[in-house]
Amino acid sequence: MNNLDNFDSLTRDILGMPVFSDHEHHLPDEHFRQPVTLTSLLAQSYVGWLGYTPGNTPESRADYLDHVRHNTYYVWFERGLLAAHGLDGPITADNWDAVSDTVTRAHAANPNLHLDLLRRAGYERLILDTYWNPGDDDGHPDLFAPTFRMDKFMYGHHADGADKDGFNPWTSYGFTGKTLDEYLEFMRAYIRQRHDAGRVVAFKNAEAYRRPITYAEDNRAAALEAFGKARAELSQAQWMLFGNYIFHRCCELAAELDLPFQLHSGLAQIGGSDPSHLIPIVEKYPRTRFVLFHAGYPWIHTIAGLAHNYTNVCPSMTWVPTISSTAAVRALNEFLDVAQSARTITWGSDCWVSEESVGAVMAWRWVVARTLAYRIDMGLLRIREAGTLAEGLMFANNRHVYPKAVVTA
Ligand SMILES: [Zn+2]
Repeated sequence: MNNLDNFDSLTRDILGMPVFSDHEHHLPDEHFRQPVTLTSLLAQSYVGWLGYTPGNTPESRADYLDHVRHNTYYVWFERGLLAAHGLDGPITADNWDAVSDTVTRAHAANPNLHLDLLRRAGYERLILDTYWNPGDDDGHPDLFAPTFRMDKFMYGHHADGADKDGFNPWTSYGFTGKTLDEYLEFMRAYIRQRHDAGRVVAFKNAEAYRRPITYAEDNRAAALEAFGKARAELSQAQWMLFGNYIFHRCCELAAELDLPFQLHSGLAQIGGSDPSHLIPIVEKYPRTRFVLFHAGYPWIHTIAGLAHNYTNVCPSMTWVPTISSTAAVRALNEFLDVAQSARTITWGSDCWVSEESVGAVMAWRWVVARTLAYRIDMGLLRIREAGTLAEGLMFANNRHVYPKAVVTA
């Protein structure tokens, strides 16, 4: 068989496999009780991150589509939306309103459509990061398993500290102590209690959106100095050192509770998100398993190098197939080449709305089929081993990396 035949037969096999996603932000049910439109879905997808917005006229929509159509966020969003609603593409300025009406009517007719779409697309399990209400499962524990956003605790130097979601551990979790050590004990007790109740399957940190991921300096004296001071009284450097101190204690806690620690790397504040900043962390905590998200895009080779050198690094493809489908094929090929274990490569769709998650898993299936067909063609993979490798990438690796997220009957 040639590469295309292998691609087609792999695509068919992969379509029949369940999917496990290690990272999502799916919005609560109430959100889908409001009218859902094409424009609202675009705004809640990564396409909404692009610097273009559709207007309300055919001309503005045509202009918009002209700008965004070939960006892979849009490519897979469109495919996912069309597949989810049984529509033929492409979306054009002419059929925009008709497509939008179909979407609105479908959601209005079925208040659980956002959940049904995930199941129909093959999702068996999704690890959920509800950063607006950390640790929530949107009331659907059968589908969603919560990760814990430990970065919220990095804002607790003072009762008035708050992250961009207005979240502060003092007010949100009821901390009333006076000292840094009391704060640390409060944090540990809070997380251990949630973990013991089955409400924490991993830790997550996404501070790359707010600051450089330079967490290496673990300075207790600086944390003691910062504790009890309002944000305005702290320099950026002092504020970051307080955050670092909390981060390090959570690396220890992740090892104690045997929880994978999901770290955002790449993109976000791109001046400070180079994953090589994480090398001192990965080395200092060999008993903590770090899932390095987003293949560190654009630093995919750095993530590959980390996966080559450290057994406690999982090179994660989460979000990557939609960021750049071609880079995702390159990254997956390289991770398979160098990772100490093929079972450490994880994936998640990283979406807020289900239509985009439908498209994202289509993208991931495409990346897996393309990559494996290429490796067969290159003589790097036996055809009879391709099915097991694909199963690993689609669901089995995530079951292996996140055993506490697996539902046991
Ligand atoms: Zn995310």
